Amino acid sequence: RKEANEKNLQEDNLRAPVVCVLGHVDHGKTKILDKLRRTNVQEGEVGGITQQIGATNVPAHGVQRQTHMVKGFDMSNLNFPGLLIIDTPGHESFSNLRSRGSSLCDIAILVVDITQGLEPQTVESIDLLKKRKTPFVVALNKVDRVFEWESNPAKDIREVIKLQKEPAKNDFDRRTKEIIQALNEQGLNAALFWENPNPRSYVSLVPTSAISGDGMGNLIAMVCDLCQQRLNKRLMFSEELQCTVLEVKTIQGHGTTIDVILVNGRLREGDTIILAGTEGPIVTQIRSLLLPKPLKEIRVKGQYDEFKEIPAAQGVKIAARDLEKAIAGLNLQVAYHDDEVDLLKDDVDREFKAAMRSIKVKERGVYVQASTLGALEALLEFFKANSVPYSGIRVGPVVKRDVMKAAAMLEHDPMYAVILAFDVKVEKDAQELADKEGVKIFSEETIYHLGDCYVEYIKDFKKRRQDEFRSVAVFPSRLKIIPTAIFNKRDPIVLGVTVESGILRTGTPLCVPSKEFVEIGIVTSMEFDHKNVDLAKKGVDVCIKIEPVPGHTPKLVGRHFEIEDILVSKISRESINACKDHFRDDLSKTDWKLMAELKKEFQIL
Ligand code: GDP
Repeated sequence: RKEANEKNLQEDNLRAPVVCVLGHVDHGKTKILDKLRRTNVQEGEVGGITQQIGATNVPAHGVQRQTHMVKGFDMSNLNFPGLLIIDTPGHESFSNLRSRGSSLCDIAILVVDITQGLEPQTVESIDLLKKRKTPFVVALNKVDRVFEWESNPAKDIREVIKLQKEPAKNDFDRRTKEIIQALNEQGLNAALFWENPNPRSYVSLVPTSAISGDGMGNLIAMVCDLCQQRLNKRLMFSEELQCTVLEVKTIQGHGTTIDVILVNGRLREGDTIILAGTEGPIVTQIRSLLLPKPLKEIRVKGQYDEFKEIPAAQGVKIAARDLEKAIAGLNLQVAYHDDEVDLLKDDVDREFKAAMRSIKVKERGVYVQASTLGALEALLEFFKANSVPYSGIRVGPVVKRDVMKAAAMLEHDPMYAVILAFDVKVEKDAQELADKEGVKIFSEETIYHLGDCYVEYIKDFKKRRQDEFRSVAVFPSRLKIIPTAIFNKRDPIVLGVTVESGILRTGTPLCVPSKEFVEIGIVTSMEFDHKNVDLAKKGVDVCIKIEPVPGHTPKLVGRHFEIEDILVSKISRESINACKDHFRDDLSKTDWKLMAELKKEFQIL
């Protein structure tokens, strides 16, 4: 076993800055991280989308290796022990982790695709960074896509640009200018890093290509420079523990472990830790403190070193008993004395409850479950954006109790008797109960698939309900009989009509309001231009067949009503409700106006 990892703590006692990479989807966050750690996480991710958080230690010698081509960058100036880069799971979780007040990130890389410019998530990220006053650099990524670009990752990016031919230079200049302008519009002064007049008030742009490697050394150097200039005080190592749980995972040989970001303070083997769990706070002892080998991403299997003590800042894996129900996304505490345990349990519980309370649920909606608080929040963010209401939420596996809660919706609105489970286990007896009760459980490993599944389900559900209510939901219509088109006067009545307003469908009961609402029968078929149709809109002439209402005496044209009479759909409270509930969008504004008129005529309250 190794002794304390003191090489990460230098004489002046600064800790490694925690770096976050953020930006719009597809602009290259994952690829940049990949390039930095020279592993390939991207292909291994479910659906290619980064969903969970990991961290990479880039120790000083790692920085050195990656920046050797950078002119004027002097490693000996570096007084902190390398970088700790967090692999952000899309920026929602970053925002949520941050919004809970854990000042996880010291510094950020904002990735902007040079061919795309600023996009919605870029702007959101900028707002977040501004709000938190987090210093950042912009990676002007995908520079290899610049017209006729010639790559040379072995050189400083400034030289690579100098060596470009005219067309590439022009294209690069034009795109860069546009992005600087767009950043100005967001209230940011920005400049290419070598033209930056004042790094305190201008954000630096570093052209990069995560594919070819152009500018990657400059990016690392720039991040280090910025840390050096802006963070010295903040990076002073403090013994006060600041530690956030990022992930809960089962690892062969270690059981359930938690991945944490230790931002400040230190963790020791045997420490009593307190953290949030799905069944209340967990108190346990650290069995082992594990670190991945340098430059290996924490998620890559195996290859851990064990430590007796670990100082900040590092991504650490903790093995201990009773971590199965741990919740990620919240702070971890250490009790140094027994009498602190209860107090810290309270703190942990309060933090978790506050986080859950801050999530507002609706009275009617689906039930949402996820493996971590961050994932839950990211999921809810997605549902909010897609107008999916939720009435219940929980972090943890789907158990019978969850099914029972979701089943409560069967009474109110069966459409919402659904559990959307993201990256959690569905217990067997819970699934059995769900099947018995008629609760639908969707379980997926990516947010987008889960969203798609639900959207499909709702579409299908609505269609099934429409089918069910088709005969009850009477569309409003007002018809004029065409005097020259009376083909049969009785049982069935067959005649031509003009749809004066509304929509006429087969199945519609018709009556004559002027004759005290004589119900003349039900439209059983229609022809337009000698072809069968189900529906005729305003202005259309159709030939209709009207059969008597079962059990009623057949009505006769000329006796029970006249050719001059107007025919209308026979509506009722029940039919109006069915239209409102299931066919709202099938009727236009003027159709609804006609419905209101008929309602008045029929004196429906
Ligand atoms: P993220 O959603 O921001 O994490 O984006 P990814 O890293 O997954 O990248 C999205 C796509 O852009 C992938 O197909 C990458 O291979 C590609 N990509 C990323 N960086 C670069 C780059 O510098 N140059 C080029 N040509 N493609 C890139």
